[in-house]
Parts: sequence; structure tokens; C-alpha cells
Amino acid sequence: MPLKEYHRKRDFKVTPEPSGKSKSTQGASSTLGYVIQKHRASRLHYDFRLEWNGVLLSWAVPKGPSLDPSVKRLAMQVEDHPIEYANFEGVIPEGEYGGGTVMVWDKGTWEPESPDVSEALRKGDLKFTLHGQKLKGSWVLVRTRGFGGSPGRPSWLLIKHRDQFASECDVTVEAPYSALTRRLLADIAREGGGDVEKAASGDPPAGKEATVSSARAGSPQKRTRRLSAKKK
Ligand code: MN
Repeated sequence: MPLKEYHRKRDFKVTPEPSGKSKSTQGASSTLGYVIQKHRASRLHYDFRLEWNGVLLSWAVPKGPSLDPSVKRLAMQVEDHPIEYANFEGVIPEGEYGGGTVMVWDKGTWEPESPDVSEALRKGDLKFTLHGQKLKGSWVLVRTRGFGGSPGRPSWLLIKHRDQFASECDVTVEAPYSALTRRLLADIAREGGGDVEKAASGDPPAGKEATVSSARAGSPQKRTRRLSAKKK
């Protein structure tokens, strides 16, 4: 019962999250869904989810993804989520599990690069291509031993592979809007009756996403160049 932990943690009479009771009918569709939900819970994090075997395999990424292949982002594996969760954007009531504001930050499909996904997951080295609105190209999730994780909750690292989509731009700052509704976390909280101030603390400072490129252009630590531009 892959969604047992998901169900155990939630009271569907209180939270608007999908119960996942309806069996997903995949039919002839051969594409696999991918979603990242930006979640301002007790701490801000990005929930990275890949459809596999009728559920969404899920990792909580505290700092969010980086397009820079030299940056490894901690990704703590969490319980599988129902496929319908990929469209959930809204407010989880305070006091409930994960209470806070959820944004569909990126959405699309993914393709395994590892020939045998089950084997890759077992070995802790899953290579894949993302076809999202924000994240594209080749990535890897590598399971680690040790830091960051708690027992029964393995730690992985999410790393961008070097390709034409690699970049030193900070995609979490430069692309802060919902992939579904173009809203910021504060907008979602306001419209969903949530804690607007708490949600807003997960959004970039006002105007920063619009001015970040020009601000960096004058900075000695300019980080907006495409990595491919300086490759030899
Ligand atoms: Mn979460």
C-alpha cells in the first residue's frame, strides 16, 4: 500500500489536499508527470515529485533546485504522494501536517535516462530528463549516506548535469511564480485564506525577481552567464 503513510498523516475532512482514493487511469498515456511544489510550511522547501508506478515519488529539497552543475542540493525522500497531488495548489490549514501555502512551482513531464528505473532507485542513482516550464534537460538524484537525513528517510542529492540548460542564474529567485496560475505564495495565501505574511516570507523580496539580472550585471560576482558559454 504505497500511499499508506500519505493517508496516515492527513485528515481529509480538514485539509484540501487530494485524498488520492480515486485510482488514476493512466490508459495509453506513456508520459510520466513531473512537478515541483514550493511549500511554505514550518520551513520553506521545494517538493520534487516524479510519477512512477502510479504514485508520485517525492523528495523535499530545502533550498530548491540549482541549474548550476557544481551545486548539489540536498533532497530528503518523503512518502509517495497520489498522482492527483501534482495539481494541488492552495492552503493547508495551520496545525495540519504540512500546514502552510503550496504553489505548483514547475510542472511538466520527465523521462528516465537510467535504463531500469526500479534498479536505479534501488542503487540510489537515478538519471533523468525534465521537460518542465522552468527546469529542463538532464539531472540526477544520487542517494547519500549520512548527513541531513533521519532514519527511514534517505537523503539524496539533486544535481543538474552539464548541458545547454545548465546556468548560474538562481532559478528560484528569478522564476518565483506559479507554473499554474502565475501567482506568488502571498497571492495564493491571500486567496486561500492562509497566513499571507508567512507565505510572503517565501517569496523573493518585492521586485527582486525583476531586477536581479541588472543588479548582478554590476556586481563583481556576476553569476548570470550561461555555463556553456565559458566551457572549453
Ligand atoms: Mn512539503
